[in-house]
Amino acid sequence: MVNDHVVEQSESPLPWVVVGGGMVGAAMALAIAESGRKVVILEPYPETEFDGKSAYDLRISAITADNIALLEALGVWQQVASLRVQEFTQLAVRETGGEWLQFGSEKALPLGYMVENKALQWVLTERLKAHALVDYRTDGFAKIVGSHSLTGNAGTGVNSAAGHGKCSVMTASGEMIPYQFLIGADGVNSRVRHAAGIGTAGASYQERCLLATVNVAQEIPAATWQTFSGREVHALLPLANQQACLIVYADTAEINSWAKNTVELELFKRFGAEIGPFSLQQSASFPLKHQHALRYYAPLFNTLVVGDAAHGVHPLAGQGVNLGLRDVAALRALLQQLTDENKAFTAKLQRVLKQRQVENILMGQGLDSIARIFRSEHPFLSVARRSAFSILARTEKLRSIAGRFAGGPLSK
Ligand SMILES: Cc1cc2nc3c(=O)[nH]c(=O)nc-3n(C[C@H](O)[C@H](O)[C@H](O)COP(=O)(O)OP(=O)(O)OC[C@H]3O[C@@H](n4cnc5c(N)ncnc54)[C@H](O)[C@@H]3O)c2cc1C
Repeated sequence: MVNDHVVEQSESPLPWVVVGGGMVGAAMALAIAESGRKVVILEPYPETEFDGKSAYDLRISAITADNIALLEALGVWQQVASLRVQEFTQLAVRETGGEWLQFGSEKALPLGYMVENKALQWVLTERLKAHALVDYRTDGFAKIVGSHSLTGNAGTGVNSAAGHGKCSVMTASGEMIPYQFLIGADGVNSRVRHAAGIGTAGASYQERCLLATVNVAQEIPAATWQTFSGREVHALLPLANQQACLIVYADTAEINSWAKNTVELELFKRFGAEIGPFSLQQSASFPLKHQHALRYYAPLFNTLVVGDAAHGVHPLAGQGVNLGLRDVAALRALLQQLTDENKAFTAKLQRVLKQRQVENILMGQGLDSIARIFRSEHPFLSVARRSAFSILARTEKLRSIAGRFAGGPLSK
């Protein structure tokens, strides 16, 4: 029996379809396949190789301890770690001229690892391509076709192209794939989210993030740090082989005013005192925005969104992909717990997604507040900031809570 919202298990269950083979979509597809379900993944631009001897890519993520545990459970971490990663055991934050607020210690368990996005995506892609339950297609998502199509141009009634009275995905190449559940993991401008009628809320920060990889002349410790400096934030991610990723969050007008040949000098003004001389390898900048999907599940289309398709947060605490991987971890737990896509499954799925939405909004709002408060020049906020830093610096318990919120240390 079928109804509008639930697909009962049949002799040959339809596959799940995941759109987007970025870090989140690829991990999601692997979690589905590992739970014994068939999955089709659509990614028009899959990673085809990763060369650990090539120059560092600019897209590097600080993957936190809880998500390293997820990647271990999915059986991919060992291979990623064998490519090129850099653990970090310490994390420090301060206001320019103020005292450092430290998390972790040199001898403590790692807080996480710096991982190139390309490396993780490549390992996941290879694993998916070799998996018996995965149909990896180098194709894009075009639209949802079925009895409930919002656009009307494809809504051809219950016995539509899907042939099951249910929805199908039409790919960019025109193929039709009937599905049980469709997952949009297609990034911040998600077409799946749009096709499922899921709205968003958010705003641009009128800020850009400049990322640069550099070769440093002197050894730097395995510590990541961030300095709040007036209207700017400066951050360092340590990389292997005496390299580092330097990040500046600043007003769009400021970053846009830097000529290409002055980037190294601008960076030296901001980082030279901490890390000494360095040579710039490459740099690029990105606009920043804060965006949240108004819901994560569209029951009419059995469609859900995860990763940046569901939430885009200020990257100042490196939480973006970490939130997406936490979406995957929550859904993976559900897929392992319930084997049939029946009513109980759908109800639980909605609860899990609601919980994720609440947690992601809390993190997003928290980061949004930090970004705004630290850029404010209001004297009251300046005093409040210093007091908060001072209290945190002296209260081990509060620091440990904050550390756990951000992913916690790895256990060995
Ligand atoms: C400057 C900067 C620094 C960051 N630093 C960090 C950090 O240190 N730590 C951290 O956790 N996060 C960080 N982030 C955020 C992080 O990069 C993102 O949160 C993460 O990449 C989101 O992954 P995703 O898989 O959800 O989406 P994406 O990486 O955007 O992947 C989406 C995928 O969907 C595919 N796709 C798009 N459209 C279609 C379609 N129609 N059909 C099929 N496929 C499609 C794309 O090809 C892509 O592969 C940073 C972000 C920025 C901008």
